[in-house]
Amino acid sequence: MTTVLGIEGTAWNLSAAIVDEDDVIAEVTETYRPATGGIHPREAAQHHAMYAAVVIERLLNEFREKGHHPKDIDAIAFSQGPGLGACLRTVATSARALALSLDIPLVGVNHCIGHIEIGRWKTPASDPVVLYVSGGNSQVLAHRAGKYRIFGETLDIGIGNALDKFARSAGLSHPGGPKVEEYAKEATGYVKLPYVVKGMDFSFSGLSTAAKDALKSSSLEDVCYSFQENAFAMLVEVTERALAHTGKSEVLLAGGVGANMRLREMLDVMCDDRGARFYVPERRFMGDNGAMIAYTGLLMFRSGTTTPIENSHVDPSFRPDTVDVTWIADKHQEVL
Ligand code: AMP
Ligand code: MG
Repeated sequence: MTTVLGIEGTAWNLSAAIVDEDDVIAEVTETYRPATGGIHPREAAQHHAMYAAVVIERLLNEFREKGHHPKDIDAIAFSQGPGLGACLRTVATSARALALSLDIPLVGVNHCIGHIEIGRWKTPASDPVVLYVSGGNSQVLAHRAGKYRIFGETLDIGIGNALDKFARSAGLSHPGGPKVEEYAKEATGYVKLPYVVKGMDFSFSGLSTAAKDALKSSSLEDVCYSFQENAFAMLVEVTERALAHTGKSEVLLAGGVGANMRLREMLDVMCDDRGARFYVPERRFMGDNGAMIAYTGLLMFRSGTTTPIENSHVDPSFRPDTVDVTWIADKHQEVL
């Protein structure tokens, strides 16, 4: 049995977990909640620095209470990026200190791949097209020739940020995504808003600004509804084309925005039409969580990938398609 401790803290959520091949053994989370406005990177990093030791201590206590001992841990995984620089540095510092004090290897994990791997672990999906939609990221990915390739992505901000930004301009508190979903249910009409898909990429910042302007002449409910219809249709369109292009037969939804029931419904309809299976992990594994970093670290560690301290610098724009997926045997084997 391999056992790995993983720490996530790329943005608002500081979360640490210990997993083995079978399940999550322990998980402790402390969430940063901005008093006003959106996420302030420096405040979020201060939050993580303040709670890092407490979270790890509580995690190890929980681990001991379940009959384990810290010496059972084989490696320390951490979110190496993408994310907010100050938050990433705080988490990496804690991870290095832990790895050194327990004298075990460090494993730097790409946060986006963490979302994919926990979805493959906790749902029956095995080789899916992944729609990863969160605050800072929006990407359509799939495994091919040894890498998670990015088939389409946002050209500017993540869908979650676009929803939060628009919601803030409408006077709603952070996070705005769930509030927009609630208002959208009460809509009585559709308002024309931009729909921006360029090739396989999409863009949300113009939509967010146009939605803010639309509030001058339309109801909040109608604008929320129209925002969702356009943004989600853009995401579903690109996901559908990635399915057609790769010939895969599964779609996996990942990231915090995946909590949205309207997005799920639209993906479900598209998958039904194409005869593809649609998978959504349990809520606790959708948003940022320590288990996804620990589990991806476990897969990497088991396939021989570790990160020497001198290579453990963080990368705020770490791209998932730069990581060698050493833990999946490649069915395609084609040379790109
Ligand atoms: P993550 O970065 O993956 O942790 O996800 C956080 C983002 O998810 C924030 O931008 C939230 O506004 C967004 N979010 C959470 N729940 C919902 C929802 N029900 N509908 C739309 N967005 C949501
Ligand atoms: Mg995320």
